[in-house]
Amino acid sequence: MVADLHLHSQYSDGTYTAAELAEEARKHGLKLIALTDHDTVEGCESVGAECRSRGLEFIPGVELTAEFAGDELHLLGYFVDMRRPELLAELAKYQLVRQNRVREMVARLNKMSIPLTADAVFALANCRSPGRPHVGRALVKAGVCTNLDQAFERFLKKHRPAWVPKFKMSAEAGIALIHRAGGLAVMAHPGLNHCDEAIPGMVAAGLDGIECFHSKHSKATSAFYLEVAECHGLLVTGGSDCHGMSKGKPTMGQVRLPYAYIEKLYARVAEISKSAVKGPEAERSA
Ligand code: AMP
Ligand code: FE
Ligand code: FE
Ligand code: ZN
Repeated sequence: MVADLHLHSQYSDGTYTAAELAEEARKHGLKLIALTDHDTVEGCESVGAECRSRGLEFIPGVELTAEFAGDELHLLGYFVDMRRPELLAELAKYQLVRQNRVREMVARLNKMSIPLTADAVFALANCRSPGRPHVGRALVKAGVCTNLDQAFERFLKKHRPAWVPKFKMSAEAGIALIHRAGGLAVMAHPGLNHCDEAIPGMVAAGLDGIECFHSKHSKATSAFYLEVAECHGLLVTGGSDCHGMSKGKPTMGQVRLPYAYIEKLYARVAEISKSAVKGPEAERSA
């Protein structure tokens, strides 16, 4: 029994619909998946339903972009309450930042006499959490670029002419947001971000786990982070970070997380929800 805890859908920069994502997971023999779209839980309801109808387990999740001491890192939130108004209101702020960033990128393209509109990008994205890949796809659709890679190379990569820096919340704020939504906070793909020195501080801020297994981690990288997890008493997660067809070949199936790790996650959320129930009672009896 295996799981994939890092997947993107059409609700952010992936290409799979809810049904396609669940169907691909089933075909890969996965028992459980988590949806971790960027800055949104918009797809969790429908992906959850598509999983259930195929007999798969589902964990609602989200991926946040954060920084710690100037380094960019990504945080995964698992078991977040996808209906909690406070979470939705916070995420709406980050989605607005993304929408304004798209407007800024389009304005920069317009200055280069490329006639793209932000509305064309939003129509193509058709989700609350648009990003650079949607601008890239719109450039391809408009015939300005031949493919997405070219759009990134010419315009969208860091320091290219249409690149706009991305807002990043502090890692502490991200961890706190995930916790207030009842979730577990996990550091995503540490092997890609090169900020190991941030880990002790993140643990002090309440980090629950670390994504040791990732489609871009080598065996040695995974082994290294398994030791880091052990050393700090962190939960271990893993996922393919599949974006569907948006970056060439889908990566689903490349990470097959043994179910024993999932049991540890369930045990930890059960502990948390027990203490959350005890909390107010303890206060009342005091
Ligand atoms: P954003 O969050 O708007 O800055 O966009 C980041 C996303 O762009 C990443 O999550 C990737 O999915 C995608 N991305 C980054 N570089 C490339 C690339 N060269 N080609 C296609 N997609 C890319
Ligand atoms: Fe992405
Ligand atoms: Fe990421
Ligand atoms: Zn991701």
